Amino acid sequence: MTNLTLKPYITEEQLQAKVKELGAALSKKFKGEKIVAVCVLKGSFMFYSDLIRNIENDVTCEFFGVSSYHGGTTSSGEVKVTLDLASPVENCHVVLVEDIVDTGLTMNYLKNSILSRKPKSLTTVALLEKPEALKVKCELDYVGFKIKNEFVVGYGLDYQGYYRNLKYIAQVQNFQ
Ligand code: 5GP
Repeated sequence: MTNLTLKPYITEEQLQAKVKELGAALSKKFKGEKIVAVCVLKGSFMFYSDLIRNIENDVTCEFFGVSSYHGGTTSSGEVKVTLDLASPVENCHVVLVEDIVDTGLTMNYLKNSILSRKPKSLTTVALLEKPEALKVKCELDYVGFKIKNEFVVGYGLDYQGYYRNLKYIAQVQNFQ
């Protein structure tokens, strides 16, 4: 599994610069307000932890576990909740942090689930978006990088559970 050929795609430096930029934009948007930052597990954990360290507001952390790929490279379209938020977010400014928007089905599911809990506001942030892969309309407030419709790993994103610990994002060249 760990002997696949990886082609570097987004460098550590590019990721860190983007995280700073997004953190500054969110700090400005919510100046003086408290934020509940929701990490979508597992893929966004690394982006999330870098992002919240670049937000200057008072932040509380919540975790939302969902699974849609089930270890493969194409979305099943079916969203399975593996961990729900631990606290209510009613009347809170919620910032939803996702790793990648592919078909848009997972993000739409998450948005609807959070909106049903009546937050004061909901802001969506995705590190990556594949505009050509969208199957449903999915509006995002902040996007780090728009990428081609290709499978990527690293910086939290996996292939069959591996590669999440890479400091950069790569394309996998030789799927088995
Ligand atoms: P969607 O519901 O938008 O099709 O898929 C969203 C989820 O699929 C993401 O949260 C992520 O877990 C997974 N995903 C989509 N594209 C990729 C990709 O290129 N690489 C990896 N590792 N996961 C992806």
